[in-house]
Amino acid sequence: MTEKQSKERRRKVVVVGAGAVGATFCYALAHSGLADDIVIIDVNVNLAQGQVLDLEHGQPFFPPVSIRVGDPGDYADAQVVVIAAGAAQGPGETRLDLLQKNASIVGRIAEEVAEKNCPGVLLVVSNPVDVLTYVVLKLSGWDRRRVIGSGTVLDSARFRQLLGNYCGVDVHNVHAYVLGEHGDSEFVAWSMTHIAGTPIDTYCAASANCTDWNTQRPRIEQAVRDSAYHVINYKGATHFAVGLALVRITGAILRGQDSVLTVSTLVDNAYGLKDVCLSVPCIVSEGGVARIIATPLPAEEQTALEASAAVLRTAIDQVGL
Ligand code: NAD
Repeated sequence: MTEKQSKERRRKVVVVGAGAVGATFCYALAHSGLADDIVIIDVNVNLAQGQVLDLEHGQPFFPPVSIRVGDPGDYADAQVVVIAAGAAQGPGETRLDLLQKNASIVGRIAEEVAEKNCPGVLLVVSNPVDVLTYVVLKLSGWDRRRVIGSGTVLDSARFRQLLGNYCGVDVHNVHAYVLGEHGDSEFVAWSMTHIAGTPIDTYCAASANCTDWNTQRPRIEQAVRDSAYHVINYKGATHFAVGLALVRITGAILRGQDSVLTVSTLVDNAYGLKDVCLSVPCIVSEGGVARIIATPLPAEEQTALEASAAVLRTAIDQVGL
């Protein structure tokens, strides 16, 4: 690398956790051409080294990008730090045990990132992502805009894919969002769902493709919620689509794109909620969440959002920050 190239380099992404999610994200990010430097950190140093080597062998097929194993010193000039580190649920371990364990892992990483005066954005993907986003926000001591969770960006993609398939419309022209927890209490915001500016119910009532809409509507909502369980039942984990969702979020940050994305963010005095991290539509740009788009919801969706916030508040209280 020439000195000129090294000075120009500034799009550095550090990925903590080189498992299925972290590695898939690195692979997709390398392909995207969005980053100049991809740095991988894992407590399992051999795994990190192996992922780096495997990715490096793909360099003739990627846009130019440097990929290497790093250490906490790399946080000092990273634009984005993605936290995909976590422990798997062990035998006899409860979800609460796992929550405590992962809160301690990501909390320590957040403190290290803050200690290195990282100027960038912290993007959490480890589960339970909303609770851990809150943990990272508190333990980093950072401004709320710079700490985000991948939230329901993945769930919204699943929703759009199912709707596009059912309606026979290019998924890129389906606008639809899943709000609340990335988990069982999430819900689809039908009031925000449209195709070509036409509300989805109106669209489906007029489209010959949309047979049996009244039955399909709840089926699609349930399928979105069950998506992760289905994939996990078949192959043990999800990683391709979440890796791509992470590239979308990272790209919005690196390019200062002002994209509307349902990332998990601290919602405090918006949507009638206080002090909880969950997903609502946000403008995502260079510094993270530039602003929340606070749209009045119909009563049924507002109730669902409040119920989801209550579930998350209970889990946050269990961590005991
Ligand atoms: P994985 O077990 O394959 O990888 C986790 C990695 O984290 C391991 O390599 C482990 O060595 C590493 N690790 C553990 N502690 C660490 C530490 N202190 N510092 C650095 N690395 C550490 O798991 P995965 O399938 O890659 O999933 C990672 C996380 O992402 C899990 O919490 C999973 O539930 C979550 N996930 C989130 C979404 C989402 O949409 N938010 C989707 C899929 C998976």
